[in-house]
Amino acid sequence: MTSTADGTGLDAVGTDIVGTDDVSLERELDQLLAVERFDPPPDFVSRWYRPADAAAAAADPPAFWAEQARTLLDWDTPFTTVLDDSNPPFYRWFTDGRLNVSANCLDRHVAAGRGDKVAIHWVGEEGERRRVTYSDLLADTQRLANGLKELGVGKGDVVGIFLPMIPEVAVAMLACARIGAVHNVVFGGFAPSAVRERMEVSDAKVLITVDGARRKGRTAPVKEAVDAELGDLKALEHIVVVRSTGIAAPIREGRDVWYHELLERADPVAPPEPLDAEHPLFILYSSGSTAKPKGILHTTGGYLTGATYTHRLVFDLDADSDVYWCSADVGWITGHSYIVYGPLSNGATSVMFEGAPDYPDRDIWWKIIEEFKVTIFYTAPTAIRTCIKWGPQYPGRHDLSSLRLLGTVGEPINPKAWLWYHKVIGGGRCPIVDTWWQTETGAILISPLPGVTSTKPGSATTPLPGIFPALLSEDGQPVTEGTGVLVITKPWPSMLRTLYRDDERYVQTYFSRFGRDVYVVGDAARLDADGYFWIIGRIDDVINVSGHRLSTAEVESAIVSHELVAEAAVVAQSDEQTGQAIVAFVTLTGNQSGDDATIAELREHVATRIGKLARPKRVIWADDLPKTRSGKIMRRLLRDIAEGRELGDVTTLRDPDVVAALAGKVAQAD
Ligand code: ATP
Ligand code: MG
Repeated sequence: MTSTADGTGLDAVGTDIVGTDDVSLERELDQLLAVERFDPPPDFVSRWYRPADAAAAAADPPAFWAEQARTLLDWDTPFTTVLDDSNPPFYRWFTDGRLNVSANCLDRHVAAGRGDKVAIHWVGEEGERRRVTYSDLLADTQRLANGLKELGVGKGDVVGIFLPMIPEVAVAMLACARIGAVHNVVFGGFAPSAVRERMEVSDAKVLITVDGARRKGRTAPVKEAVDAELGDLKALEHIVVVRSTGIAAPIREGRDVWYHELLERADPVAPPEPLDAEHPLFILYSSGSTAKPKGILHTTGGYLTGATYTHRLVFDLDADSDVYWCSADVGWITGHSYIVYGPLSNGATSVMFEGAPDYPDRDIWWKIIEEFKVTIFYTAPTAIRTCIKWGPQYPGRHDLSSLRLLGTVGEPINPKAWLWYHKVIGGGRCPIVDTWWQTETGAILISPLPGVTSTKPGSATTPLPGIFPALLSEDGQPVTEGTGVLVITKPWPSMLRTLYRDDERYVQTYFSRFGRDVYVVGDAARLDADGYFWIIGRIDDVINVSGHRLSTAEVESAIVSHELVAEAAVVAQSDEQTGQAIVAFVTLTGNQSGDDATIAELREHVATRIGKLARPKRVIWADDLPKTRSGKIMRRLLRDIAEGRELGDVTTLRDPDVVAALAGKVAQAD
């Protein structure tokens, strides 16, 4: 294991990379790949972590979580019961307590004199700016809460939210939380048919949407499309329409209402409803990487405890001075927990960006970071890999010296992408938190703590205090070093409570394999000698070649570490000789196309990095890889293609053409 004396692991190879050419950057990253471990910069001292917390959490997890819930949140009625585990896996937390999420996110900050503090610096696609303070958010949230009541929305009713990244999306969520309505946010990039499905299964009474949504200079007529697809839904009584772009939007008298008119006529005062800690807060569909999307249900007290606690601890948040930016969409759990609930509950100042990372140009993210002096930036590996494809000249145009902490979420990050992020974006100074969690977990469970944990590129490192992950072998035996199935052995406050209206699928999916008290994550992982977790992919993604279990993430990282490669996805194909064989779908940088010599070179490259066994049997050149709308590679479809099967559920695919083109190409070649 190598790490340099200054703790960053970087000095030996220099730190000033931005502005140098691609070739020397490549060479430098290549050298860095040999650095296995990066110690925390000595001057980075965690604001919130106390070693005693870890001990307390280990000794008595419920007591530890009770302490967090009490100190981080304001309760209308303090709880006396911490955890009800009498009927696993239906765990209940803080059951006799009452609180309101919107009061915790807004009222308490305004009451403490922080009403003028900016909650959201909003950046519109055409360069507009809006400064939304905590007082502004509170005022609109109260009016919308009253407006929703006027439309007949009561406690427990479901409200659909289908909005782009505009501040109204936060207002809509908080207004629901204020009156105890359950929101069901659908990612703004989905087609109306996906919205219909999600509204239908949850019997949404009201949908909050928009006249139109902008994307890279064009405006899509959202309301019109919503009408065409959802017009006849029985349970849907009203549609609230935010005027965002000014594009013509049909308004059906009696059913539809403009958001601004609803707010204008509403009473400005809406006291927050004290709700049971287990009152449902929201339903959110998972991204559908592995199967048909699941309607995950989160509740009030436990969820907010998890989001608030982890946001402050993992991002080392100083609410007074940090400017925090999570580039996810609010339609994913990352947006729920780390754009809306965590940051607002902690009283943070965030950036919210409406647009795409390449409009008007590929430097827009870095321009925003420079302008708002963003200190904490949280994004996804897929975005980083895209930035690598585009080249370091785009971040190179801007002053990113305000950044002090970087984060990633969503997929395993290839060491090369990690190093690029560290070097090119973080200037070699910023710790990276590789945060592992799921829609189901509500909040981050495994992540380095900045200033505390030494990081290893590609590893989410160790669990947060109060979280108890473990690896089990196929037959349920504990694995202390090596690969296994990732499980969580004790309940935690922000865990999902069930799948909406489908308790059976909840038990079946997560709690049937090793008993009703062991949460089966669905990911496979490796535990190294230092007790670090390496997520190696979905259980189904582990490839068994001649009895050797190989991880898709590791093989992909090896392929991507080749200088010609931008992105790779690896799947298994059944093989008479070896049981399973590796098929690699590979995208080259700069739209290059590969030939047989490149295939031989890549196979050799993997052989030297991992071993001969890991060499892909087939390499398929792809212009692009099929991804979910949240940007994850959909390996299950690649498996279908590799094996020549009919494709499974494609409804959450970002670009169906990509998979059709690939399938056609592979069929032809075979
Ligand atoms: P579905 O459950 O519908 O298939 P999904 O699992 O992609 O969709 P999410 O809940 O958004 O939906 O994603 C959680 C999954 O993302 C995790 O189970 C894991 O596989 C992956 N993941 C998230 N963060 C990380 C990370 N830091 N490192 C490795 N993998 C990660
Ligand atoms: Mg999942």
